Amino acid sequence: MLKKLIPREQVNSIYELELDTLWKQGYRGIITDLDNTLVGAKAPFATPELIEWLKVVGQIGFQVVIVSNNQRTRVTKFAEPLSLPFIYRAKKPTHASFRKALNMMRLEAGQTIVIGDQMLTDVLGGNRLGLYTVLVRPISPTDEGFFTKVNRTLEKAALKMMKR
Ligand SMILES: [Mg+2]
Repeated sequence: MLKKLIPREQVNSIYELELDTLWKQGYRGIITDLDNTLVGAKAPFATPELIEWLKVVGQIGFQVVIVSNNQRTRVTKFAEPLSLPFIYRAKKPTHASFRKALNMMRLEAGQTIVIGDQMLTDVLGGNRLGLYTVLVRPISPTDEGFFTKVNRTLEKAALKMMKR
């Protein structure tokens, strides 16, 4: 279980991802978390920097699906202006929404990257399905809700145990 919390790659932000390398390695799809991964948990819309990044991602050829545990209104309002497919109330780390996202892109697990800021939802869920998992530093940790804060505490405990 603990091993499944370890991401394949850890970066400060999505902008550090080596997209060309990942493409050459055969990856074709990106399943990305929303809150604190693409923008801060309380930022309603994409930043110009993110819009530019998504453009590059699309130009390389990657498909992108936003998979968020947040509510419909939050995710819809954010994703629709970007014309990106999305899944809300995803119940990560459970399998269903990751599978649904793979089906939407018509891709296999081995061709797909998961990006997120939480080990217990994004990384755990992605690792269990054999996706390439990337953990980013949360953009605005102070804006997180109660359950996310609980998850952070569990993450820290898990990391401590693994270091032993
Ligand atoms: Mg998040």
